[in-house]
Amino acid sequence: MTPAVSLNTATVKQWTLAQCIEGCARHGIPGISPWRDVLQEMGVDAAARRIRDAGLRVTGLCRGGMFPAADAAGRAAAIEDNRRAIAEAAALGADCLVMVCGGLPPGSKDLPGARAMVREGLEAILPEARAAGVTLALEPLHPMTCADRSVLSTLKQALDLCDALGDGVGVAVDVYHVWWDPELAAQMARAKGRIAAFHVCDWKVPTTDLVFDRGMPGEGVIDIPAIRAMAEAAGWRGGVEVEVLSRAVWAMDPEEVLKRVKAAGALC
Ligand code: ZN
Repeated sequence: MTPAVSLNTATVKQWTLAQCIEGCARHGIPGISPWRDVLQEMGVDAAARRIRDAGLRVTGLCRGGMFPAADAAGRAAAIEDNRRAIAEAAALGADCLVMVCGGLPPGSKDLPGARAMVREGLEAILPEARAAGVTLALEPLHPMTCADRSVLSTLKQALDLCDALGDGVGVAVDVYHVWWDPELAAQMARAKGRIAAFHVCDWKVPTTDLVFDRGMPGEGVIDIPAIRAMAEAAGWRGGVEVEVLSRAVWAMDPEEVLKRVKAAGALC
């Protein structure tokens, strides 16, 4: 069976959210996962209405997190922003709010401290997420991003946090970030019932930019079908979210990109 595909809006930065919604409808892509910048540009209520009218499933809202900060005011501001993100995810009826937890505060070398800030931030917002019925999907990011984007690097770390935090928290599995992990199979099995999102793109060889040179599924070395099979064995039944941060893809005709997103369902 071809899985339901979802368009992560960061894949077509050339387009507004309205254009992405129309594009999904036109190309028969049944899901969408907006980033908050394009969502806010369109207006949350208008976007929720248009997405509903188009019959699209919202596989996630990108993103909350970014908890660590140099001082208490910075950490409080991050928590406030996460509260707004929870409200936005609830308004969209999103499957989850994807959490990119944040790196070290500028100038800091205190990695355990940053990890503690992530946990404290999640603890602070969890009651609201639970009340709103929004699952917080912890997305471990490749360790190359540990300094600036995510001190949460492995699926094991993410699941340990899920265990500690309890209900209302799951994981976002992005093949780009976890494919290299020797513990992947064991941790995917451990994730049973807790995979809230599944993101696909590919690892190109060579990779020329550590953030913006991801490949379309099939262009690189990740065995995406194998990881997807692990996700299904762990009970995941969501949409395959195509999230390709790539300057090359952003330079393409978006209509062509959406054709390839649609086709990715068969490859993944
Ligand atoms: Zn992702």
